[in-house]
Amino acid sequence: MKNITVIGAGTMGNGIAHVFAMNDHIVNLCDVSEDALSRGVATITKNLDRMVAREKIDEQKKSATLSNLTTFTNLEEAVANADLVVEAATERVDLKLKIFETLDQSAPAHTILATNTSSISITKIAAVTSRPDKVIGMHFMNPVPIMKLVEVIRGYLTSDEVCDQVFAVSKDLGKIPVEVNDYPGFVANRILMPMINEAIMTLHEGVAGVEEVDTVMKLGMAHPMGPLQLADFIGLDVCLAILRVLHDGFGNPKYAPCPLLVNMVTAGHLGIKSGEGFYKYIKGSKELVVSPLFKS
Ligand code: NAD
Repeated sequence: MKNITVIGAGTMGNGIAHVFAMNDHIVNLCDVSEDALSRGVATITKNLDRMVAREKIDEQKKSATLSNLTTFTNLEEAVANADLVVEAATERVDLKLKIFETLDQSAPAHTILATNTSSISITKIAAVTSRPDKVIGMHFMNPVPIMKLVEVIRGYLTSDEVCDQVFAVSKDLGKIPVEVNDYPGFVANRILMPMINEAIMTLHEGVAGVEEVDTVMKLGMAHPMGPLQLADFIGLDVCLAILRVLHDGFGNPKYAPCPLLVNMVTAGHLGIKSGEGFYKYIKGSKELVVSPLFKS
């Protein structure tokens, strides 16, 4: 699988394009927004510069990586020669179904169509294509160049051959693939999101403050980041959307999103991306400051 198309140049898309381009693949990075493409390439360049400064790669590797990368705003053109497509566009069912319909019509017959979705059913996405055996989940973790895991999600009709090919390409990228089946939240978010939701509930009920909840989980469970800080990092809107998928998918009240999380998202406090969540983020400062709304 030499020729790879990555759809969406946001947080995940630029990271996915980075790792494929650095491992000698031809990468077509496609986004509807020219701005997103420019920001995506700027982020890749900045991350490669950091790797050069840390002597993880040399200048030559940086240039070779960037020269493997071409940007597109036209989806049909971007997938014309693709062996593998990894879709990392905005997490919306209607949008993903539309993209996969177009991909199915425009990509060559042999092309594997993978999605980086955090929670949307692979089987549902596959059902809008004429090649459900070639549709699969390839769930990279954030930040992609650093995190080792790829959760490989088999849809109901995904073939063994396609699963094997996605395992092989993930290993070529230096990642560790793990196979899971297609049920709400897959494995990663089925376990992570209820923990984050419970941390928010613990705060909401006044059991402990933001720093206390995060410190207990960091020091007590050896987590590198507390659950509230992690929620800010992922995006509170993304956490809420995934909890709703779990709640709807299983019909079990244990997945009901905490009302505090719902309020924060409604108010536009989405975490790092909006500048405030459980913590307040000041541009240029690395200090972790609890949002004044949660100060006791
Ligand atoms: P993002 O908002 O940072 O980027 C999404 C990009 O998709 C934007 O640049 C947008 O312009 C582009 N886009 C929208 N419609 C498009 C279309 N029709 N064609 C091409 N591009 C289009 O989102 P993100 O955080 O990178 O998430 C992308 C996917 O990765 C989602 O499915 C999300 O669930 C999943 N994911 C996110 C994380 C995370 O931590 N952010 C982790 C794992 C998986």
